[in-house]
Amino acid sequence: MTASLSVQEKLSRLGICTELDLILHLPIRYEDETHLFPISDAPAGQIVQVEGVIVHNEVVMRPKRQLVCQIEDSSGMLIMRFLNFYGSQIKTYAVGKRVRLLGEIRHGFFGAEMVHPKCRIVQAGESLADTMTPIYPTTAGLAQKILAKLIRQVLQSTQNAHYLVETLPQAMIQHYRLTGFRDSVMCLHNPPPDVSLEALQTRSHPAWRRIKFDELLAQQLSMRLHYRQRRSHAAPVLACKHLLTEKFLRQLAFTLTDAQIKVSAEISHDLATPYPMQRLLQGDVGSGKTIVAALAALQAIENGHQAALMAPTEILAEQHYQKLSSWLDPLGIRVAWLSGSQKKKQKQATLDDIASGNAHLAVGTHALFQEHVVFHQLGLAIIDEQHRFGVHQRLALRMKGALSNTVPHQLMMSATPIPRTLSMSYYADLDVSIIDELPPGRAPIVTKLIADNRRDEIIERIKHACHQNKQVYWVCPLIEESETLQLQTAMETHDNLSRIFPDLSVGLVHGRLSTQEKTAVMTAFKQGEIQLLVATTVIEVGVDVPNASLMVIENAERMGLSQLHQLRGRVGRGSQASICILMFQQPLSDIARKRLKIIFEHTDGFEIARQDLQLRGPGEFLGARQSGMPMLRFADLEQDGELLTAAQTAVDKMLNNHPDLAQRHIQRWLGQKIEYLRV
Ligand code: ADP
Ligand code: MG
Repeated sequence: MTASLSVQEKLSRLGICTELDLILHLPIRYEDETHLFPISDAPAGQIVQVEGVIVHNEVVMRPKRQLVCQIEDSSGMLIMRFLNFYGSQIKTYAVGKRVRLLGEIRHGFFGAEMVHPKCRIVQAGESLADTMTPIYPTTAGLAQKILAKLIRQVLQSTQNAHYLVETLPQAMIQHYRLTGFRDSVMCLHNPPPDVSLEALQTRSHPAWRRIKFDELLAQQLSMRLHYRQRRSHAAPVLACKHLLTEKFLRQLAFTLTDAQIKVSAEISHDLATPYPMQRLLQGDVGSGKTIVAALAALQAIENGHQAALMAPTEILAEQHYQKLSSWLDPLGIRVAWLSGSQKKKQKQATLDDIASGNAHLAVGTHALFQEHVVFHQLGLAIIDEQHRFGVHQRLALRMKGALSNTVPHQLMMSATPIPRTLSMSYYADLDVSIIDELPPGRAPIVTKLIADNRRDEIIERIKHACHQNKQVYWVCPLIEESETLQLQTAMETHDNLSRIFPDLSVGLVHGRLSTQEKTAVMTAFKQGEIQLLVATTVIEVGVDVPNASLMVIENAERMGLSQLHQLRGRVGRGSQASICILMFQQPLSDIARKRLKIIFEHTDGFEIARQDLQLRGPGEFLGARQSGMPMLRFADLEQDGELLTAAQTAVDKMLNNHPDLAQRHIQRWLGQKIEYLRV
C-alpha cells in the first residue's frame, strides 16, 4: 500500500491490513448527490440535495449564536441554520454565492429549513456526482475522503483483479440467482445513480445479498471442513449395552422426561460410532441435564472406558461429585474428585486412580485438563456449562485421549440457550440436542421487581418464608471492578442479615472460601441447617437445592440477562411455588430497564436468549472468546435466515465438487481470521 505509516496504523485499527481488506471494507450508508430536487418539491423526512443562491445571511442570538442563511432557487426558498459555526463560514456563505446542500428538510415556523446540512459552494451548472456517495465506517483521524480514495485506488488497479475473481461455481450462482462477486463489490462501492437508495441502505439490494451469501457460505464451509476433519479421527466405539444404564434408571426415584429420553438416545447413538461425538446439549436451567450426562458416562464405563465431567466452578463440581457418587456408588462405579485446591497427597492419590483406570468417572474443575492429569482410557469428556469455558480449555480436555490414537467423544452442556439462527451459524460444526421440557410438577417461579428503598418489605417476606420452613438465597451485587469490594459487600450483608434475623441460621458463601469451607456451607444449606444463604454470584451456575424457594437478588440492574436467568434458576427446582425478587436501584439506565422487563416477563430461557441477542447483537451475546470464530460483518442472522439456509444447503456440494473454489472462498473471507482450531 502506498499509504504513509500513520494512515496504515489507523487502517489497522479498522481491521484493514491488506488490499483485500480494503476491497471488503464496504460502506455503512450512502448519500445521494446524483439528483437535485427543486426546493419546493423536495420530500421532507429524508436526505435530499438541493441547490440555490444565498440571498440573505445573518448571525442571530436565539438564544445562542446561530448562523442563518436564506437560499433561493427558481421554485422556492429554504433556510439553512448552523448552531455551531466558525467565523470564516459567515464570509464563505456570503450573499450571492451558489451552494449545494445535502440534508433533511423540516418545515418549521419560518418555513422549510435544513439544520447543519452538508454544504459546499458550486458554480452554476456544475455537474452532479455520477454515483451514490459511499460513506465508510472509519476511525478518528482518518478522513472519509482519504479512505474512499484508498479504496478507489485499490479497485482501479489492474494488478488487483485477482481479488475480484469469482469463487462460486456458475451453477450455484444461477440456482440461488446471485449477482457476480466483482459486479457486486463494484456496485456497493460505487452505486450507479439509478440504484434504489433504500435497497442499498437496508442492504436488500442484490449486490448486498451476494456479499452476505458469500460471508455466510465461508462460515459454513469452514465449519463443515472442521466437522469433516473431526470425523476423520477415530474415537472408541462405545456401544449401548443397556447394562449400567438400565440398572441406574431402575434405581432412580423418578422417570425421565420424554425430552431426556430423546436426547439420551441421540447421544447414545453418537457414542456407538467410531467418530468423536461433538454434541451440544442445550436445556434450560433445571431441565435435568445432569442425569443425561450420567447416562452417557455410564455408556462409556460399561464399555471399559473412563469418563470425565468438567464444571466451571468448584461449588458446582463438588455438587456434581456428591450427586454422581450417590447415584453411581451403588452400581460399583468409582467416582474421583479433582480440584485445584486439594491437598497434595489427596490430589496425587486421585491422579493415580485416574491414571490406573481405578477411577471410572473423574469429576472436577478445569484442574482436570492440566497436563499432569493422565487418563488410563478416556472415552468421553463432558463439559458442563460449556459457555463458561474458553475454546482452549475445551480443546485441552479433548486431547486427553490422544495417547491411545483415539479422540474421546465430547458432550457439551449449556443452559444458556443459543437461538436457532446462531447455532446454525456459529455452532454449525456441532450436533445439537435440545431438552425442551422441564420435569413435571415444577411450580412456576414468580418474579417481582422491587426498588431497593422497599427493603423492609423484603425482610418481612424472608421472615415469613423461613417461618414456613422454606429456604432463601440472598445474592449480593456484582461489583465488576473489584472482587475485594464484592467480597466486602457480601460479608457486610451477612452481618446485617444475621443481626436482623437473630433466630435464623444465616450462612455465607463466596469465591474466596476454601473448598472445604464451601462444601461445608453448601452441605449445611442442602440439609436445611442454614435457612438463609448469603452468596456472591458463585452460585450462579448449576447449584441445585430443591428446597430453596425464595431468592433475593440485589442490584439486579447490574446483571446481564443470562446471569439473571441462571441465578433465578436456582429456585423453582422443587414442587413449592418459588419467588425471585429482583431488587434494583434507581435511576435505571435504558438498557437495564429493558433487561429487567424481559426477565420479569419471561421464564423461558430460549425466549430470554432470543431477546438478549436482539438487545446485544451476536458479538456480545457469544463473546469471541467462546466461539473462536470471527463475527459476521454483513449478514444479519435475524434478517438473512433465508440466505443462511441457502448457504447451509450449498456447502456439501461445493466441498465435494469444487474443493479448490471452496478453499479460495474461505481464504477470501476468513483468511487469517480463524484464530483457533475449532474444538
Ligand atoms: P440442569 O439442567 O439445570 O443441570 P439438573 O440436572 O441440576 O438441571 O436437574 C434439576 C433437578 O431436577 C435436579 O434436582 C434433578 O435431580 C431433578 N430432575 C432431573 N430430571 C428429572 C425428572 N425426569 N423428573 C424429576 N426430577 C428430575
Ligand atoms: Mg446443571
